[in-house]
Amino acid sequence: MSECVFCKIIAGQIPSKKVYEDNDIFAFYDIRPHMKVHFMIIPKKHISSLMDCQVEDQALLGKMMLMTSQLAKQEGLPDGYKTVVNTGKAGGQEVFHLHVHVMGGGSL
Ligand code: AMP
Repeated sequence: MSECVFCKIIAGQIPSKKVYEDNDIFAFYDIRPHMKVHFMIIPKKHISSLMDCQVEDQALLGKMMLMTSQLAKQEGLPDGYKTVVNTGKAGGQEVFHLHVHVMGGGSL
């Protein structure tokens, strides 16, 4: 079984506040929010980081970025939002399962 926290969230082995799910991606709220609305979009496929993506992941990456606007609107951010993809230890990444942070609605 995967030891990855986000893989466990996708599998329902760790609870999360789910925003969205389909065959390719899963979205859920961050437990330590930086802004009033703060969720993450992750691929169901385990990819450690943006640095580990391959050409075959191009469509998946595009889908994750496109979904930011739909889900931001759904979660109450129709006028705009921040996206952050921390990449690698030097990039501040703590959880090594690719994720796009989507944040907005004012600082906490
Ligand atoms: P990063 O620094 O980009 O790797 O961010 C990882 C994020 O995952 C952090 O903002 C954490 O608060 C968040 N996080 C870690 N564990 C969980 C969890 N079980 N449920 C929700 N968010 C989590």
